[in-house]
Amino acid sequence: MDEFALIARFFSRPPRNPQVALSIGDDAALLDISGRLAITTDTLLVGVHFADGALARDIGHKALAVNLSDLAAMGARPRFFLLNLSLPAADESWLAGFSAGLFALADAHGVDLVGGDTVRGPLGVTITALGELPAGRGLTRRGARAGDHIYVTGRLGDAALGFAYRQGRVQLAGAWRDELCARLDRPAPRVDEGCALLQIASAAIDISDGLAADLGHMMEASGTGAEVDLRHLPVADAYGACFPVVGWEAALSFGDDYELCFTVPPERREALERVSAGFASGIRHIGEVVAAPGVRWFEGGRAYVPAGRGFNHFG
Ligand code: ADP
Ligand code: MG
Repeated sequence: MDEFALIARFFSRPPRNPQVALSIGDDAALLDISGRLAITTDTLLVGVHFADGALARDIGHKALAVNLSDLAAMGARPRFFLLNLSLPAADESWLAGFSAGLFALADAHGVDLVGGDTVRGPLGVTITALGELPAGRGLTRRGARAGDHIYVTGRLGDAALGFAYRQGRVQLAGAWRDELCARLDRPAPRVDEGCALLQIASAAIDISDGLAADLGHMMEASGTGAEVDLRHLPVADAYGACFPVVGWEAALSFGDDYELCFTVPPERREALERVSAGFASGIRHIGEVVAAPGVRWFEGGRAYVPAGRGFNHFG
């Protein structure tokens, strides 16, 4: 199977979105959009972002999920994506699994694959995702103000617990084992939540490197600080039994959560309660924005200093 047969068989599909005037097969795609474009890219490499034996289906899902999560954090509605694939060989069963995982998530969010590039090399996947925002709008890391409330969607530390289980560091009961490993392998990008928060939140970030690092980035960009009580962090019921091994670090610095952390001014709290009632993820109020820079963590009345600083490739 040559490069063109591979693209035709596994990646060319008629686009669903009428904004796609021209898709895969020409020198570039043509997209009709109004408003503002949000664009982001992320790379997943074997040995760095996923294990050698990871399922192709999960790699397809996760490569797109991490990009949709970045668009969600901007309040943008994902529409299109590009796929750059580096493959050691044209392995048909791997490609079938990868494209099934990729398109299952793409279909769930109504996004079309409109182009890419295919090369031979070590296994690696780069996706560039494009999303749409109303003209002049966008939810950034910069808008938090002292007095705003801080929230997160979903649960923190699930991926870390799944990873610790796979390493044999913690025990998990059967039902939790599947759920937490699924959270590591197939994270759900909080797309509907992010789009709804565009009208309500003052700032937002997606938690890919761990809450400690990512909340720190958002506060730094906003020129503010934060105070968070660890006892308010939303964690799985299974977390307690793992705590002697993973401590707070699973929830604070392992990363791979793909939840949203966002701030809301007190006067918009009721509006938040109205929209968040429809969120699949749920939300949790974890702390407050303050004027003094830096993030301060508390466990009840006692100060806590996180050990890790979040995932950092060159750290
Ligand atoms: P060019 O040589 O003009 O850059 P290519 O031969 O690389 O074009 O690709 C041919 C067409 O297939 C282009 O429309 C490109 O966007 C698309 N394409 C290539 N690889 C992929 C892929 N992995 N997924 C989706 N589309 C792809
Ligand atoms: Mg090319």
